[in-house]
Amino acid sequence: MNADYSQILKEIYEETLELQGQGRVAAYIPALAGVNPKQYGIAIQTLQGESFQIGDALLPFSIQSISKVFTLTLAFQTLDEALWSRVGREPSGNAFNSLIQLETEHGIPRNPFINAGALVVADCLISHFPNPLAEIVQFARKLSDNPTVNFNTALANSEREAGFRNAAMVNLMKSFGTIHNEVNAVLDVYFHQCSLMMNCLDLAKAFLFLANGGVNPWNGRSILTGSQAKRINALMQVCGLYDDSGEFAFTVGLPGKSGVGGGIVALIPNSLAICVWAPELNERGSSLIGMKALELFTTKTGISIF
Ligand code: GLN
Repeated sequence: MNADYSQILKEIYEETLELQGQGRVAAYIPALAGVNPKQYGIAIQTLQGESFQIGDALLPFSIQSISKVFTLTLAFQTLDEALWSRVGREPSGNAFNSLIQLETEHGIPRNPFINAGALVVADCLISHFPNPLAEIVQFARKLSDNPTVNFNTALANSEREAGFRNAAMVNLMKSFGTIHNEVNAVLDVYFHQCSLMMNCLDLAKAFLFLANGGVNPWNGRSILTGSQAKRINALMQVCGLYDDSGEFAFTVGLPGKSGVGGGIVALIPNSLAICVWAPELNERGSSLIGMKALELFTTKTGISIF
């Protein structure tokens, strides 16, 4: 496919601008509450090496839970199938920060994308790497081909100060013996990974290996096996947007991952990755404009994985 997506991006942008004001910026993380709600960008990166952008596509934002794909990839590289004894791969049907299933399911999170699952993945990385934060930031830089990608320490600290639910989850899992490291060490890795600052183009580039059979398109090196890459895509398809995953599959129909910073990344196997960022969220924590923009993208292009 060698389409020129500039015109489609322009149409999508114009048709969705009227949705500004209908969602709410994530206010439960104090440092995110002050983000300008009117920012909006889209970037596409194709496997042929072309990129298309519109709006604030080059403005770095807090990627929040989109980082869970990076940490899951690092853990999957390290533990391979043994990872699934620590975390499940079923949709939860609950909010990303729900504690309910954790109690009844004995501290084993449903999947690696809900917060509890990402906290277990962070625990795995701490057990394996002497400096997990350095590993995560270097990985994000390598995938996005951007050496300036970094954590936002003030944001990580702000989330720590208000992160009572995440602390509750790690403590509950620790009581079941499903967290192996210190509670504060796990939270520190998690809050930092969520604070990674990247722009739409960085993220579209960073997800391209998942559209490319697990091979990093920037250097030709294998990051995951083809089978592992398919599994991460499958997980994004069924639980990448938490309790909005069904709606996302229904209206967009691509594997994707959201974050409460307002970013959503989606990909088309063997073709491209696309990232939309607009900070106002719907009630399930997904970017309201992002959901609509991606729906329009697959509708207007006729692209489908089904
Ligand atoms: N840092 C956020 C939290 O833990 C991430 C949530 C998200 O992006 N869905 O609540």
